[in-house]
Amino acid sequence: MSEHDKIRELLALAAAGALTAAEEKQVAEHVRSCVSCSNELDAWRPIASELRRLPTPQPSSWLVQATLARAEAKLTEQAEHDWNRRVMIAVVAFAWLLTIASWPVFHSVSGRFGSLLEPQFSPTQFGQTWISFAAFTALGWLAGGVAAVMLAIRQRGERRLA
Ligand SMILES: [Zn+2]
Repeated sequence: MSEHDKIRELLALAAAGALTAAEEKQVAEHVRSCVSCSNELDAWRPIASELRRLPTPQPSSWLVQATLARAEAKLTEQAEHDWNRRVMIAVVAFAWLLTIASWPVFHSVSGRFGSLLEPQFSPTQFGQTWISFAAFTALGWLAGGVAAVMLAIRQRGERRLA
């Protein structure tokens, strides 16, 4: 678990002033250099102050429940967002890797066919290389997309069971 993820989990408590001095210092240090956590902390502050404004000793239950529901919705949304972003990065990396790794093979095979049909080098052949590279890249992205969708369906299923 990275520093960022660890701090992320403490932000709600930090806004509520429920951290130990050491944790509070850790959060303050991370937030100074991390815009994402800093924004998140700002988003938590109004929720935390709402909680603090509650009359003691007995907070009205509807407000507690509304706040908890809001906090839960926010956490779920955040987890979903982070997960989607991770999948997107994986898809892009995978598609590019696939394209770059297999292009030389594809090119040498299609190049051999091409030279059988057209022995001398010509400008049109050069153009065809670019067209086939574009088509090939699109194919790579398509394969990456299909893989990502399959991965997403599988992981979603696993998460639902978890
Ligand atoms: Zn962070």
